[in-house]
Amino acid sequence: MTQYKRVVGIDLGTTNSALALLSTDGSEAVLWEDRFKRKTYPSVVGINHNSEFVSGWDAWNRRAIAPYPVSSIKRKMGATQTTTLGEHKLLPEEFSAEILKGLVAGARQQFESRPEKPITFDAAVITVPAYFDAPQIEATKRAGELAGLEVKSLIQEPTAAAMYYAWKHGISDANFLVYDLGGGTFDVSVIRSLHGEYQVLGIDGDNFLGGDDFDKRLAEHFRKTLVEMGYSLDLNISESSDDAVRFFLLTKLAQEVKEALSTTEVHYVARRDLFEDHDGNSVSLELEYSREEFENLVADLVDQSIACAHRALEKSQERAAVTLADIDFVLLVGGSTHVPLVKEKVKEAFCSGQSKAGVPMQDEPDTCVALGAAVYAATLGGLQIVEQDATLHVKSNTYTHESTIDIFAEILLQPELGRAVKTAALINQAGDVVALVRANGEDDEIEVAFEEIQLADEGEHRFRLELCDADGDELIGFELEVYRGDPDRYRPSGSALSNLSVLAKDIYLEVVRDHRPERQLLMERGTSLPSGGEFRFYTADRSGALLLRLYQNRYPIRTIHLSIPPETEPGTPVELKLNVDETMTIVAEGEVLGQRFWAQIEAPQARELKDWSAAEAILGEVEIIAKELWGNEARYFRNATDPLVAGIREAARTDLEKLQALLLRLEDVLDTYRNRESALTPAWERYEMLLNGVKRIVFRGDGKRQLGLSTDEWRQRLEDGEKAARAAYDGANQAAWTQHFNQIQATWESLSQDEFRFASHSDPDSHVENLKATLRDAIDRLRSDIHSFTISANEETAQIQRKELELIRLELTEKVEGPLNRLENADVSAIKAKPELDRLFETYHFVRKRLERLPTLGLVTR
Ligand code: ADP
Ligand code: MG
Repeated sequence: MTQYKRVVGIDLGTTNSALALLSTDGSEAVLWEDRFKRKTYPSVVGINHNSEFVSGWDAWNRRAIAPYPVSSIKRKMGATQTTTLGEHKLLPEEFSAEILKGLVAGARQQFESRPEKPITFDAAVITVPAYFDAPQIEATKRAGELAGLEVKSLIQEPTAAAMYYAWKHGISDANFLVYDLGGGTFDVSVIRSLHGEYQVLGIDGDNFLGGDDFDKRLAEHFRKTLVEMGYSLDLNISESSDDAVRFFLLTKLAQEVKEALSTTEVHYVARRDLFEDHDGNSVSLELEYSREEFENLVADLVDQSIACAHRALEKSQERAAVTLADIDFVLLVGGSTHVPLVKEKVKEAFCSGQSKAGVPMQDEPDTCVALGAAVYAATLGGLQIVEQDATLHVKSNTYTHESTIDIFAEILLQPELGRAVKTAALINQAGDVVALVRANGEDDEIEVAFEEIQLADEGEHRFRLELCDADGDELIGFELEVYRGDPDRYRPSGSALSNLSVLAKDIYLEVVRDHRPERQLLMERGTSLPSGGEFRFYTADRSGALLLRLYQNRYPIRTIHLSIPPETEPGTPVELKLNVDETMTIVAEGEVLGQRFWAQIEAPQARELKDWSAAEAILGEVEIIAKELWGNEARYFRNATDPLVAGIREAARTDLEKLQALLLRLEDVLDTYRNRESALTPAWERYEMLLNGVKRIVFRGDGKRQLGLSTDEWRQRLEDGEKAARAAYDGANQAAWTQHFNQIQATWESLSQDEFRFASHSDPDSHVENLKATLRDAIDRLRSDIHSFTISANEETAQIQRKELELIRLELTEKVEGPLNRLENADVSAIKAKPELDRLFETYHFVRKRLERLPTLGLVTR
C-alpha cells in the first residue's frame, strides 16, 4: 500500500503543544486534533494509577490529584537538575520527551488512519523561543530524539508564526512584528521577509511573563478577598505544601475566570468547597467579577510586554534600520493574546498610524507556530511516497500558483532494480506521457527532474511517475499529485530560507589578564546564523593546563580543558574556531601545538535555590548599595532594581520559580555595583561606565573647553584618575576607592548637567546640528588614528592586529558613519535625532575603545 511521509512541525510550548503537517499536494496545513477536535495538547506530564506516564489532556485532567502532574517544564529546559513526579526523577528534556511521545502517538494514529492518503512521519522540525540559549536548544533537540523523532531542524517560534502568515496570506516582501504572549513566556521578534527569505532583525522577551502571571495575580486577589470575608488564609507557599496546594487551586479557578472574561464583560464566580482554610472551615467563593477589574489588575504586566517589544524594535533599527514605521504586519500569537486588553494595548502601541499595520492580525494564535513549522518542514523534507519496493522523495514543491511546475525527485530502491532503470516518464490522468527524461544516478539512488510540467487548470492534478528499463517497460510507478492554486491566494514557497535565526545572547570567552578574569566578546547577540569566527589567544604560564570557558550571558555553556606539555613557552598561540549553525548549535574546536581539541558541553552549574532568608539578604543588600549612591547613579540603580524588588515580593507569595528567576536577575544588576570577591562597592564596571560617559562628553572634539579644561588637560586628568582608582580598587582599599568613585561621578554629573543646560537653552535644532558636526570630526580623527596605528614587529601579533584594524574600520563605517549619513539624509526632527545621535556616540566610543585595546591584543589565558 502506498504510504506518504512528511516532516512535521511541532510547537513544543510551555503550556500547550501542537503538531501540524502539509497535505500531500502541499495545498493545506493540517493540524493534529483529538477526538473532541481540540488542536492543542497540554504540555503536562502525570502518572496514572498504574504508575505509567500520561501526558496532554490525560495529565491535565489529573491536575488536582496527587502526585500533581508536572507542567511548564519548558521553563527548566537546559537545566541539569531533575524534577520529581511520584517516584520518578526526570530531566526537563525527559519530561518534554513524554509530552512529545503522547502527541506524536496521537498524531500518527490520526494521520495514518485518514481515509484518503494516509500520512506518516518520523522526522520533525521543532520550534524554540527566540531567546533560548545553547543548552536550552540542545535539550529541546534531545527531547525530540528521546521521543524517537529525527529532528531535522529547530526554528524560532516567532519566525515560524511569520512563515505561516506569509504562506497563508501570500505575503512576499514585508516586515513583521511578532508578539507572542503564551502561558509562561513572552517572546517578540522583528522579522523581515524578502523574496521568500526570512531574516530575524531583533528579538526580545521575558521567560517569566505570560498568562500564568495573570492567573497568579487574580488568584492572589481572590485570596485577599477571602481573607476579607473572614477566612483564615494567610498562605505560605514556600514552607507549607498544603498552602501551596490551596494557592494552586485558586490559580486554576483564576485561569477559568480570566479565560471567560475574554468573551464576557462580567463573570459570575460561584465555587463551593474549594478547600479548607487554616481553621478547618470549608472555603467557598461567590462574587461577580468584571473584565474591567481584571484589566486594572494586570495592566502593568501587559505594559512590560509592550516595553520588551519596543526594545526588539530598537535592535532592528540598529541592525537593519527597520523602525516601527516600517512594520507592515503586527501578528498576535499565543493564547494570552485572546485577552482583549492585550489586543488593545498592542494595537495602540504598534498599529493605529504608527506603523503600516492598521490593526494587529490574529489567525489561529494557539496553533500558528506549529502550522508555520509545518510549512517550513515541508520545504526541508519534501514529500516521501513509500511503495513496497521503493521510496519516491519529491524534493520540490508540490504546490504552485503558476500554470507550470518543476518536479525534482529522488528514488531510493533495490540496487538490482536501480541498475535496470534508464528513463522516467510522467503520465497524466488521461494516460498521456507528458514528459520523458533520463534517469540519473546509480544503483540504489536515482534522480529525476521534470521541468515546466503544464497545469492547465487550478486545483489538483494527478500524475503517475514511472521508472522504465531500456525497453521502455515500467519497472516501478508512483502516484503523485500536485496542486495549482489561485494566484490571488498566492502562497510563497519559502524555499529559499536564510538567516532564519539570530543569536539570542552574546557568546563570551573568559580569559585571564593580569590575574583578573575578563570576558571577551566572541559573537554578539543579534548575529545572523549560521556564523562563525576564528580567534587566537596565547598561553600565559607554564601550568601545563589550558582552560577556555565559553559563556552565553552569565552562564558557562562550554569548557575546554586541555593538557599541554608544561615546558610550553608562555605566549604559544592557541587557535579557537567557533561555529554556530542555524539551529543555534555551537561547535568550538581548535589547536595548540598541533594538538586538536574541541569543547565539551558543560553541565550548567547547578543554580542554588534561594530560600526567603537568602532573598531577604539580597534585598537588604539593595538597600545598602542604594544608600551609598547619590545623584543620577542612585536614580539608575533605583530604576533597575525597583521593578525587580516589587516582582520578588509578589512572587514570594505566588510563584516560587519566578522568585528564583527574579532573584538571579537582581543579582545580575547588583554584580555591576559590588565586587563579589573583595566586597568592594561599587564594582569596577561602574567606574568604567562613568568614565566612558565623561570621555564621551569631553572628547566630542570641538576643542571647546569643558568646565574650563582643554581636551589635553582632560586626557591627562582622566588618565591619572583612572590609574589611581585602579590602584585603590586592586588594593581593596574601600575608602580610597569610594573617594575616586565619587570624584568621577561628580565630574560626570556636572558635565552632563552642563550639557543639559546647553541643550535646553539654545534651540534644539542647532544643538543637534552641532552634535552631528562633532561626531563627523570624531569619526575623521578616529580614522586617521587607525591609519597611523603602529603595527607590532612580531609577525603573529601583527597579523591579528591587521585583522582587528580591518574590523574596526568596518565597524566605524557601518555602525557609525552609515547611520549618521542616513540620519542626515532623512528628515527627522531634532527631538527624534537626539537619542539616535546619543546612541551613535556610544557606538563610536566603543569602536574607539577597541582601537585603544589594540596594542595589548593577544590575550593571555590560563
Ligand atoms: P505557550 O506558548 O506558553 O505554550 P499558549 O500560547 O498555548 O502558551 O498560551 C497559553 C495561555 O493562554 C494560558 O495562560 C491560557 O490561560 C491563555 N489563554 C488561552 N485561551 C485564553 C482565552 N480565551 N483568554 C485568555 N487567556 C487565554
Ligand atoms: Mg507558544
